[in-house]
Amino acid sequence: MPDTLAREADLPLTFAFEQSAAPIDTVERARLLANPGFGRVFTDHMAIVRYNEQQGWHDAKICPRAAFQMDGASAVLHYAQEIFEGLKAYRLADGGTALFRPEANAKRFAESARRMAMVPLPEAIFLDSIRELVRVEKDWIPEIEGGSLYLRPFMIASEVFLGVKPSSEYIYAVIASSVGAYFKAGAGAVTLWVSQDYTRAAPGGTGAAKCGGNYASSLVAQAEATRQGCDQVLFLDAVERKWIEELGGMNIFFVMDDGSLVTPPLTGTILPGITRDSILTMARAQGLTVREEPYAIDQCRADAASGRLVEAFACGTAAVVAPIAEMKMKDGAFTIGSGGPGQTTVRIRDALTGIQFGKLPDPQGWLERLD
Ligand SMILES: *Cc1c(COP(=O)(O)O)cnc(C)c1O
Repeated sequence: MPDTLAREADLPLTFAFEQSAAPIDTVERARLLANPGFGRVFTDHMAIVRYNEQQGWHDAKICPRAAFQMDGASAVLHYAQEIFEGLKAYRLADGGTALFRPEANAKRFAESARRMAMVPLPEAIFLDSIRELVRVEKDWIPEIEGGSLYLRPFMIASEVFLGVKPSSEYIYAVIASSVGAYFKAGAGAVTLWVSQDYTRAAPGGTGAAKCGGNYASSLVAQAEATRQGCDQVLFLDAVERKWIEELGGMNIFFVMDDGSLVTPPLTGTILPGITRDSILTMARAQGLTVREEPYAIDQCRADAASGRLVEAFACGTAAVVAPIAEMKMKDGAFTIGSGGPGQTTVRIRDALTGIQFGKLPDPQGWLERLD
């Protein structure tokens, strides 16, 4: 049903521009951008598009970032009909601005919407909202090493109704946050807590959709990881509690001693990461052997002990590529490889960020230059 509601008549939408009357001044902005951290510095504007059944997608605008006014009966507040995306705008080596594979985010956003019985946002509207917002906010891209403008598109069910059904109204918005490194350790390595009590996604569930609910249900496991002195949680499959799936918000790769890469396959319970897909594509183009196949936690532990497993890393837009030093579980901990960033992991991270920051050739045409 939702698909038929996304009418072609909605296109194209022109984004009106309402300039902020009280933007953060350039001195304060420079101070914020010197050490932005992750997810706490926000820009002056946001993009908004609304949907209802009568008007379709309408009222597209770039406007001052402000609090939303919401009725307490808005559907999202009760039944969590919400999806989001995450992508970055980069300052290129030549001073230009670019996005990385934004059409992949647009497509995934529409797929997440379908899974959550929301009206899919036409991909062209998604892409225009990102381009328009970045054009207005490009001075918010930090010049620091590895800095970028993190873009957070999201959509919420805004119908005021307590009955349980797909909402008939939605608010789509994009906010932007100037960011530095995701992990404090920067180029260091992270430790994982293997969750044996909690799972993230079950067959037939919402694991492949980028929805807030997946994160809500992962927080208790993440809190347990923190209590165990680990940086992130690693989830196993919900059926056998045996197969490695992914982290709360990142996919995972393993590097074997023959130089091959292994990552769990996309079976519906794992989020199809764009970073994951980019790494698979680059690795195959370089002639590396890559296998998308199930990998059991016991096998992983045995391979780490025997030396067959030499490196592991997590990947996602926010943290890019994060080396994994150690895994900890109820009956003990084990180190992977040297316990520090391995050479294949570093090579993959440098190859990916090299393309994203315009320092290396872009054979796949993944960068979209905005200026
Ligand atoms: C967003 C996300 C990822 C990473 O996806 P990218 O497109 O690479 O940023 C991985 N796992 C989960 C659960 C996610 O939400």
